[in-house]
Amino acid sequence: MLKIAKFGGSSVANANQFKKVKKIIQSDSSRRFVVVSASGRESKEDNKVTDLLYLIEAHLKYSVDYIPLFELIKERFLSIKKELHLQYPIEEDLAQLQSELRKSMSTDYLVSRGEFLTAKLMAEYLGFPFVDAKDIISFRYDGKIDYDLTKLRLDHFLKNHDCFVMPGFYGSLPDGTIKTMSRGGSDITGSILARLLDADMYENWTDVSGILMADPRIVKNPKRIHTITYSELRELSYMGASVLHEEAIFPVKEKNIPINILNTNHPEEGGTIIVDEIKNDDSDQIITGIAGKKNFSVVAIYKNHMSDEIGIVRRALEVFENYRISIEHVPSGIDSFSIVVNTDDVKDVIYDIVSDIKKACNPDKVKVIDHISLISTVGRQMIYRPGISGKLFAVLGKNEINIRMIAQGSDEINIIVGVENKDFEKTISAIYNSFVIQ
Ligand code: ASP
Repeated sequence: MLKIAKFGGSSVANANQFKKVKKIIQSDSSRRFVVVSASGRESKEDNKVTDLLYLIEAHLKYSVDYIPLFELIKERFLSIKKELHLQYPIEEDLAQLQSELRKSMSTDYLVSRGEFLTAKLMAEYLGFPFVDAKDIISFRYDGKIDYDLTKLRLDHFLKNHDCFVMPGFYGSLPDGTIKTMSRGGSDITGSILARLLDADMYENWTDVSGILMADPRIVKNPKRIHTITYSELRELSYMGASVLHEEAIFPVKEKNIPINILNTNHPEEGGTIIVDEIKNDDSDQIITGIAGKKNFSVVAIYKNHMSDEIGIVRRALEVFENYRISIEHVPSGIDSFSIVVNTDDVKDVIYDIVSDIKKACNPDKVKVIDHISLISTVGRQMIYRPGISGKLFAVLGKNEINIRMIAQGSDEINIIVGVENKDFEKTISAIYNSFVIQ
């Protein structure tokens, strides 16, 4: 049995969190490969080391005094070292970093130091060897991971070691310079390692006991999702439920390695397991989760006998393409269709878009409806059960929620409704209360 254990920023926020990590690692001998994020925040008032590093970069750029920010980082690391009685001469590495700080330092190098220093401390504390991500995680110049080279380097390291702590979030380019991933990228590092080491499980330790069926700010005490498929999670995350970096799914998906989202503060609570496919699905919940996003605009295009006109949808879509605007949905009727986009993306150009659509499609009418929320009800079980959408629409009707748009993904694992922003919370609660078995 082999597990990759990735700990997020809040799990390594201070010495006390380090102790929890050690307990978790020591309680299961299959947890041999550890990835850490940079020390993050334990409470809302706290700072994330990575944020401070990005801020230092901005201060350097505009020649503003960055020392107070650097002091915060120093204090954080030194207090962890002191409380845990560690030997690693982190003062020297911090002093060197400070002496090298100047406008020309690469952003990627600077912000990667959060993970680097956190991993150094953690390695000593766990008694595991430290391995620098720059010597293992290899990028090609196009920014993609070079799996072959990464595997080669990993195998080389593992010839003499059977465990390690590695910083997440970065790797190196072919010329050896450091390249970071996008924010939250340590999740991806863990996933790459799980794939290359053929792990049985990728554990992602964070500060929540898994994924909830709905946003707890909207639904009171929502139930936890025990098992979810990668595709369901993708639908939910796209619509705003965020626990894991989206890109962390792809490396493990092909190998069908489950991801377990767990809580460093409450390991006993268990979490959510993400898998490719669920055999013998015995969940009694028809839906897996509900998520949504506000502020969409619907551009509705009407034209009599449109159904006979070839190319009209393409011409309308081309207008959006010309403005480099990404499209969310295209629900259609017989003599009309709508194009759903993010309001923020179109707000500065909407008059130009409407005018271009009029030229390109010669419609009878174009209408723009703003303040729309999209709410996605996700559930792999929905495909097999008739009447689910009927029930969903009935519930919204009973709650006097006006549905402005309906869409469904082709794999039928979700139903999306568009409602007015003012009905956003009400819609999520209504769906939750009528579908979720308590
Ligand atoms: N430390 C980085 C960030 O804050 C990466 C991570 O935490 O995964 O985005």
